[in-house]
Amino acid sequence: MSRNVYTSYKKYIRDFRENSILDYLGSNTIIKGNYENHAMALMELMENDIKDNFNFRIADSAISAMKHAHLSAINGMASAAFENTRFFLERVALVKEIYEMRTENNPYELALEHLEWHRLIDKKFIIYGLQQFTGRVWHYTGKDYIPRGITIFLSGVPLCGIHSKSYIKYSRSIEDIENETGLEIREKCVKCGRGATRFTIALPKAGAILGMLGFYTGHDIADLGKFYAAYSRVLHPYGFYKYPENYLINLWSLDFIRLVLTLQKIIF
Ligand SMILES: [Zn+2]
Repeated sequence: MSRNVYTSYKKYIRDFRENSILDYLGSNTIIKGNYENHAMALMELMENDIKDNFNFRIADSAISAMKHAHLSAINGMASAAFENTRFFLERVALVKEIYEMRTENNPYELALEHLEWHRLIDKKFIIYGLQQFTGRVWHYTGKDYIPRGITIFLSGVPLCGIHSKSYIKYSRSIEDIENETGLEIREKCVKCGRGATRFTIALPKAGAILGMLGFYTGHDIADLGKFYAAYSRVLHPYGFYKYPENYLINLWSLDFIRLVLTLQKIIF
């Protein structure tokens, strides 16, 4: 809908395509042009489009991450600025996936909304990459299947009645999955080896989140992967960049414009 509006921002990043933020931060290359007003206009556009497209409370976090990133950039805080930009990217990607899964009471959404995701992570209910996500589901459904509805639970962990007790909200009974899909599922509990009765979701790590975004939208996410890798390097323990504080907003604005132009094609 607002696609043409996004495209009109391309001109600002024309000379800013080749280098990653690491190139600029690492060499302290100053960007003289101030594109903050354009970045702010894009922020507003993103905020409206996120609200219009994704009616989830957890989408609000994407909007606040974007605003915190901007605020940090104004104040010359490089790590905080790009950390929040990364969080914005991760959250928008996850929200889009939840939208595409078309599942009532989506367990990923619930885990984030109730701030209980760490309980699942602590138990190592984790998906490290897209292949793990699709591999688990395809084991039951056959290849090329796109899990939506109740079948998203097949990407998780089979557990028996006892071991699934604490994760009822984040699991579905095998019986329900069988009834809805016509599949026949025989699994053992990963904790004790008894017959499994439920599947509990596993939470995707960042790499898996981006991979799943490509899987669910059919888009190439290689460019987003490059953004993600650059942000992660800024935040790396070896990272600490001393970029001139006054000029950080210029670098951040250009990077943000560049990210949004890549991202909007995929999520809206
Ligand atoms: Zn068990």
